Amino acid sequence: MIYDQKVKIRCNPKNKKHYLEKGYDVPKTGEYFFVSVHDLLPSTSELVKCKCDICGRDFYRKFCYLREIHACSDECVQELRERTIFNKYKCKNIGQSKELNVHKKEKLANTKYEKNLVKTSKNQKHLCELFYGILNYPIGDYNVDIALINEQIVIEYDGKGHFEWIKDEIKELNRENYIVNKGFKLIRIESRSDILLNDSDMIKLVNFAKYLNKKKVYINLEDKRIAYYDSYSFEEIL
Ligand SMILES: [Zn+2]
Repeated sequence: MIYDQKVKIRCNPKNKKHYLEKGYDVPKTGEYFFVSVHDLLPSTSELVKCKCDICGRDFYRKFCYLREIHACSDECVQELRERTIFNKYKCKNIGQSKELNVHKKEKLANTKYEKNLVKTSKNQKHLCELFYGILNYPIGDYNVDIALINEQIVIEYDGKGHFEWIKDEIKELNRENYIVNKGFKLIRIESRSDILLNDSDMIKLVNFAKYLNKKKVYINLEDKRIAYYDSYSFEEIL
């Protein structure tokens, strides 16, 4: 469940019209204002307060990641998954067919990498060169944007295209957890406007993230904010 709440958002040329139409007193571009959670655009990346539909705990999540069912943690996502499978197949373990699927997915990820079949953006390529990474590297079922194999780090870049479709929250969490469980640290770079900072600032941000003792670190390029997955505390470092 999403709590009824006011969310602080930043005015930009894209959201201005939407909130004006909703009757808000919209400030100048770049300035912050409060809107009701019911009026938010689906692509909004601000954190909103929710109640877990599985365990009842309060938690925060980015609005754009939310779906009809709200699960707070890996365990609750897993529980939800099992309940869904149970309802669908009326059994808890779908056993062999699931295992076969995993093999198929892994094979597909390898093929995609070897044959260069994954779509790559200009910024993704640039970041990859900047950090001496490998593009679309297969880790189990997934092709990650950039892998720094020696450092066991995965960098995912979410540009404009990423925010245009509303993401499947559980799918996205599963992907992140899978990568982390394979022993990688995940650094997610988000840029809604699809603009990178200059190379030295990018290196500064990513280096800062690399040495944070956290498994998942989010970097927001618009606000130059760094967020840790577990605490959702933000830190400005530029
Ligand atoms: Zn929960």
